[in-house]
Amino acid sequence: MSLLQSVKEASQSSAADVIKMRRHLHANPELSYQEHKTSKFVAETLRSFGLEPTEGVAGTGVVALIKGKNPDKKTVALRADMDALPIQEINDVPYKSTNTGVMHACGHDVHTSSLLGTAKILAGLRDQFEGTVRLIFQPGEEKNPGGASMMIKEGVLENPKPKAIIGQHVMPLVPVGKIGFREGMYMASSDEIYIKVIGKGGHGATPELAIDPVLIASHIIIALQQVISRNASPKQPTVLTFGRIIGEGATNIIPDEVNIAGTFRALNEEWRENGLRKIVKMAESIAEGMGGRCDIELSRGYPYLENNPELTRRIRQAAEQYVGKENVVDIDLTLGSEDFAYYSHQVPASFYRLGTRNESKGITSYVHTPTFDIDEDALRIGPGVMAWMALTELAL
Ligand SMILES: [Zn+2]
Ligand SMILES: [Zn+2]
Repeated sequence: MSLLQSVKEASQSSAADVIKMRRHLHANPELSYQEHKTSKFVAETLRSFGLEPTEGVAGTGVVALIKGKNPDKKTVALRADMDALPIQEINDVPYKSTNTGVMHACGHDVHTSSLLGTAKILAGLRDQFEGTVRLIFQPGEEKNPGGASMMIKEGVLENPKPKAIIGQHVMPLVPVGKIGFREGMYMASSDEIYIKVIGKGGHGATPELAIDPVLIASHIIIALQQVISRNASPKQPTVLTFGRIIGEGATNIIPDEVNIAGTFRALNEEWRENGLRKIVKMAESIAEGMGGRCDIELSRGYPYLENNPELTRRIRQAAEQYVGKENVVDIDLTLGSEDFAYYSHQVPASFYRLGTRNESKGITSYVHTPTFDIDEDALRIGPGVMAWMALTELAL
């Protein structure tokens, strides 16, 4: 039997188990950096495959090696994230979250169970490949500073440096059965901007005695869009969104301060720094020009994510061998952001999408919504295709 056939058979025979694991994880979600039970479950499952995982990496992270013959020949790393979101699930399913207000609404239960499935497949084929597969189960993808950056600090990309790292993410826009790839720039950097506009409160009927922070904040929000339209190159995707504006005055009360918060995203590190500088300067000058001032806090998020073109081409080819060319699709760049980006700045990396949508079953909700779910048939593909990608990379 060919190695590809062996992977497919191992994947089919463990699919029911993988779905069971996913349901267990889905029913028991844990927030970022608090994945204690999840990481215990991951480590125990890996041990049941005969592996020796290292627990407690960057808090709740787990790392395990699957050594083939000649294990020092080369190493390929595979990554899954384990954290859930502060969302109350409203799906009525048997595996509904039992942790009130917490939900696997970004599919990290799927990534974790899928990588466990990949581990099982590869552990069973250890005498049929050369090299080492390093499994990385990381905490905290959804929250700064990003579990990936902490795992890198703990040395998961060293001793030896993997020749490649591959990550998988669910995609509710892509039908189940299909897998999406994009070479090159794929996702944006993301920084949070918190602006406290400070004026001087007073009666709504005597604005001449006050300094109105509501009006100052309004000018700042409108003016900052010009940083995007007049300072960024039109050829460069970038976005600035303020989704929060809080001024607790009343119809006849001018408040002392207004707080606004937003996100700034870019696909170019030079523009990212430049844009942030301009945003700060413009907000401060407007506030000052209008007689107030502002305190600005920037919370740095993840860098842009670039998919290594050669690696992406190779794993795309592996996916075509696994699911057929007709089931491999191109995906567009997005200004979403992912902490997998940190790995992509260290070693050749590729982040691809596993289709999970099924309109006939009503599974269409986007990630980060209380109705998000997947067609679990995706888990009949995810573990095997990732195992096959790792094996083809090791065989090069
Ligand atoms: Zn997410
Ligand atoms: Zn995610």
